[in-house]
Amino acid sequence: MNAPPTVYPCRVCGLLHEQPLWGQDDKTPSWEVCVCCGYQVGYHDCSPVAARHFRETWIARGARWRFPERCPPDWQWQAQVKNIPEQFLLATDVVLYPCRVCGLLDEVPPWGADGCNPSHDICVCCGSEAGYEDCLPEAARVNRQRWLDAGAVWFDRACRPPEWDCQAQLQNVPEAFR
Ligand SMILES: [Zn+2]
Ligand SMILES: [Zn+2]
Repeated sequence: MNAPPTVYPCRVCGLLHEQPLWGQDDKTPSWEVCVCCGYQVGYHDCSPVAARHFRETWIARGARWRFPERCPPDWQWQAQVKNIPEQFLLATDVVLYPCRVCGLLDEVPPWGADGCNPSHDICVCCGSEAGYEDCLPEAARVNRQRWLDAGAVWFDRACRPPEWDCQAQLQNVPEAFR
C-alpha cells in the first residue's frame, strides 16, 4: 500500500511539514519553530487571530525564511499560504476590536456589537474590565498610564507574544480614548 504522504501545514505561513505540528490529536503542540516563517507552534499559531497577526507581520517584513538555506528555488509565499487550513486563514472581513485601555485586538468586541453593552471581560493584556476601567476616556487614560507605569505587564503572561510591541499595540486604542 502506498498511502499518499501526509503533510501538515504551518498555520502561520503554510509551509508543509512532515511531522504533525499539533500532534495526532491536533491539540498537542510540538513547540517547533517553523523553518520558514520562524514562528513557534503552540505559541504564535494558537488561535486564528494569532496566526493571522503573525502571518501579516511576516509578510509585511518581506516573507523571509527563518533559515534561508532551506528556501527552495522559485519559492513564492503567495502559493504557500494557500496550504493554510481554512479556519486559520480567518477571512480578512473578520473585525478585530481594540481594548480601549491597551489596544489589544480581539475578536470579541469589548463593548458589544453596538458599542453600548460591555462584555465585562478582563483584558488578558492590561487586565482591565470592559465596562469598568474603560467606561470613560478619562478612566481609560488613567488606567493605561497606571498599567504603563507598572511596566506594562500582561495580566495573563501566557498570552504575551515573545516579540510583543507595546507601542505598536497602543496605536490601536480608539482615538477618543487616547
Ligand atoms: Zn511557518
Ligand atoms: Zn487591554
